[in-house]
Amino acid sequence: MQTRPVKRVVIAGGGTAGWTAAAALAQQLGPLLDITLVESEEIGTVGVGESTIPTIRTFNALLGLDEREFMRETQASFKLGIAFENWARLGDRYFHAFGEIGRSTWMGGFHNMWLMAKAAGFGGDIGEYCFEHQAAEAGKFALSETVPINFSFHLDASLYARFLRAKSEPKGVKRIEGKIARVEQDPESGHVTALMLESGQRVEGDLFIDCTGFRGLLIEQTLKAGYEDWRHWLPTDSALAVQTGSTERILPYTRAIARTAGWQWRIPLQSRVGNGLVFCSAHQSEEQARTELLANLEGAPLFDPRLIRYVTGRRRKSWGKNVIALGLSSGFVEPLESTSIHLIQIGVTRLIKMFPFAGDFEALSARYNEHARVEFERIRDFIILHYKLTERDDTSFWRACRDMEIPDSLVERIALFRESGYAYQGPEDLFTVSSWVFVMIGQRLMPKQHHHMGAMLGDQRLRRALDSLKGSIAQGVTSMPRHKDFLRQYCPAPQSE
Ligand code: FAD
Repeated sequence: MQTRPVKRVVIAGGGTAGWTAAAALAQQLGPLLDITLVESEEIGTVGVGESTIPTIRTFNALLGLDEREFMRETQASFKLGIAFENWARLGDRYFHAFGEIGRSTWMGGFHNMWLMAKAAGFGGDIGEYCFEHQAAEAGKFALSETVPINFSFHLDASLYARFLRAKSEPKGVKRIEGKIARVEQDPESGHVTALMLESGQRVEGDLFIDCTGFRGLLIEQTLKAGYEDWRHWLPTDSALAVQTGSTERILPYTRAIARTAGWQWRIPLQSRVGNGLVFCSAHQSEEQARTELLANLEGAPLFDPRLIRYVTGRRRKSWGKNVIALGLSSGFVEPLESTSIHLIQIGVTRLIKMFPFAGDFEALSARYNEHARVEFERIRDFIILHYKLTERDDTSFWRACRDMEIPDSLVERIALFRESGYAYQGPEDLFTVSSWVFVMIGQRLMPKQHHHMGAMLGDQRLRRALDSLKGSIAQGVTSMPRHKDFLRQYCPAPQSE
């Protein structure tokens, strides 16, 4: 098959992934492309996905979205991090905040100073040196030029998709309602040439983006890209999702509460709270999980919990021939650190950077796939960390997590930190040194040693520096408004406008 310039882009699927791809391509390359999106209301979307990470702000800025409008349309609240409860031991609680812990230097992370202080018998909890953590615990939020704060959002992913659709269609994205019945391929090259809809309509394209969710209609059912199954490292395979009404206080953080064979999420939006239980079917039946979830809701459920089954892992090739998989069709790692929407956004951003205008796919797809592999694996390791470092032995699930083999890449990170306190963020790592430190220390992994940068100050100056930092954070937080009040003022609901 001869290469031909890529002009016609066809997006299969209109969930969060489909409309994210459409919005980004239309905004950045719109005049150069002819973009069509096919979706089926009858099939619907996965209908979950509420917690995000700060990279969404960069992405929204790339799309030129107005933040207040975005928040109003997606019922969003602000998020400063995640509180992990019962993870290392029953009754434990730690926080993974989005901000940096203290002030690091080129020589090493702030945690080294903190470890030195601890060894000398002073210093507070590590979270006391992180502004975002303290603000979250106090239920406060504000945007200020003088105190930059790192945050993301809790949002309704279905409304986000709808919002992105409203931004995409005026930029020329054509939407076709219909079910894809068959995928046509060039007999020689295997490239996808068209989607045949049940209605008989034929949608031709040069480049196809598979956003059909877990089905992977193009990337897997047609191109057989293959799937790397990671259930031996991340054994949960089911989730029950439900919503409750809004609560008096809207927490500016996600709660991830470890339960019998998995964990429960609580995600407060402006108008409701998203709840769900992620669990492992080998250790807990659906009925047991349902009972556990319903017994631990704050407020009455708005409908019966909905079951979703999944296989944790990654598509071996996110980009095969002229098809790029985005979203659930490219793989899934459970939502413990809210990374799925980020992976969609980073995937489409990379596609824009590597867009195959001339129709040559081979070299570009090889590099794209390599980036995607490393990205997925680093996130996977970070999630496994939470399970592996558990000390719980009260249920068969947690004993299995504690005793499981883990990837070599993670073995090395844990050993490094345990022996020397050294934590790092590699070039392809999404999570910062502070993130790794928050989780490792939160999971009770206290290093045996640390860098002696703090000794350059001496005990007295180190103590003064820590006290001053803690004091200025506490003072800053005191002057902030309550999250709920700030939300009301920043993006008032239409009726109170
Ligand atoms: P879907 O939403 O499944 O969309 C698939 C689309 O393809 C639909 O429009 C459908 O109609 C269409 N389609 C499929 N087959 C056909 C066909 N034959 N013809 C026509 N159209 C078709 N992510 C986060 O970032 N944060 C979270 O907190 C989070 N929580 C999650 C919790 C759970 C339990 C799960 C399972 C996922 C969670 N995610 C989260 C992931 C997030 O939900 C997804 O990444 C996101 O919704 C994108 O989904 P999607 O668009 O890939 O797939």
